[in-house]
Amino acid sequence: MIHLKLKCHHCGESLMDPDFEIDDHPSVRIIVASNGEKGILRLSSLYGSHKKDSELDVQEGEIVRIFCPHCNVDMKSSRFCYECKAPMITFESLLGGYIRVCSRWGCKKQLAEFENLETELRAFHAKYSLSPQGRGEK
Ligand SMILES: [Zn+2]
Ligand SMILES: [Zn+2]
Repeated sequence: MIHLKLKCHHCGESLMDPDFEIDDHPSVRIIVASNGEKGILRLSSLYGSHKKDSELDVQEGEIVRIFCPHCNVDMKSSRFCYECKAPMITFESLLGGYIRVCSRWGCKKQLAEFENLETELRAFHAKYSLSPQGRGEK
C-alpha cells in the first residue's frame, strides 16, 4: 500500500495536512476552483483511493482547476487523461517522481511515474502481487 507524500512541483512546499486525515493518513490539501469560487480540497494520500473532501460542491464531470495553497500556481500539466481527455494535475512525490490525477471531477484516472523504484515500486509490487519485470534495475 503506498501512502503518497506530495509536494508542489513549483514551490516545493509539502501539500500534506497532518491535521486532517483521510484513510487514516494525512490528506493532501490543495485549492479547487469551480464556477468562479475557490475552496479547499483534500485528497486521500493512499494511492488508488479516490476519497476526497471538498469545500465546494462540484458537479460530477466538471473539469476543475487546482492551485497550490502555498504559491497559488495552477497545477495543471500539459498531459491529458487518456480516458476522458481532460488535463491532468501534476503532483511531485517527496520520494521522487510524479503523480498525475485527472482534473475531471469523478474521473478516477491516476498515473504514477516514480523515480525511486527501490522503495515505491517494491512496495507497490508487494501489495498488488505483480511480478517485477525481471530486468535488473539500475
Ligand atoms: Zn506551490
Ligand atoms: Zn479523466
